[in-house]
Amino acid sequence: MGAKQVLVSVLVAIGLGITGMFATQSDRALGAAVKFDNTMVANKNLTDRGKISYFVNDSAKKYQADIRFAAHTWNHALGRRLFKPTSLINKSRLTVTVSGQMSNQFAGMAEINSGVIALNDNWMTRYDRSKRRALIIHELGHTFGTKDLYQYPNLALQRQFRQATIMGGNYSTTIGEFDRRLADWSLAHTRVMGSAEFYHYRVMDNLYFQRMLRGKL
Ligand SMILES: [Zn+2]
Repeated sequence: MGAKQVLVSVLVAIGLGITGMFATQSDRALGAAVKFDNTMVANKNLTDRGKISYFVNDSAKKYQADIRFAAHTWNHALGRRLFKPTSLINKSRLTVTVSGQMSNQFAGMAEINSGVIALNDNWMTRYDRSKRRALIIHELGHTFGTKDLYQYPNLALQRQFRQATIMGGNYSTTIGEFDRRLADWSLAHTRVMGSAEFYHYRVMDNLYFQRMLRGKL
C-alpha cells in the first residue's frame, strides 16, 4: 500500500458502518461486471504444490494473531487451506517480517521473488487491530500474483476498486465476491516458481528484502 492509500483509508475508516454496507453492494456489482485482465496480475505467484507455507520471523511475532487472522480469512474465503503456517523458515515460501526503517510511503510491502511481506512498524503501531488485519490481508493478496488495483489504468474502475476491493486498498477485513474471484483468477493466470528459481532469490542476501530479513534494514 502506498502513501495515498494511507490517506484514503483514513477517510474510509471514518464512515465505516455505512461504507461497509455500500462496499458489499458495489463489490457484488463489480464481481458481476468487471472482466479480469492481465494488468491486474504480475507474472508469478508464491504457491508451492497448491499451498503457501508462511513463516513469521521474530520481529513479526507481536502481530502473530493478526497474521493468523488474515491467513485464515483468505483460506475461509477461498474454501481451502492455501496459507499454512510453518515454524521452519526453510520450509516456507513466505516470510513475514516487520521493519521500522522502511519508507513511510508504504504501510506494507510484498515481494514475490524471494517471498517476503514486510510490515512497516511506524504504521502498524498506529493502526487499530482491524486496520492491521486489513493491511495484512491486502499484502497476502499479492502472494497470489495480484497487483495493486489502486493503480489500475482505467480511472473510473480504479475509483470503484479503491472503494470496494481489498487489492484496491479499501482496508476491509471482509473478503467479498470480487476479491475472492480475483484471487482465484490471479492464481490461475500466474505461474508457480520451481525450487531452483525461488531459492536463487532467497539466498541473495544483498537483496533489499533479504537484507531486511537479516535485520540490516
Ligand atoms: Zn499493495
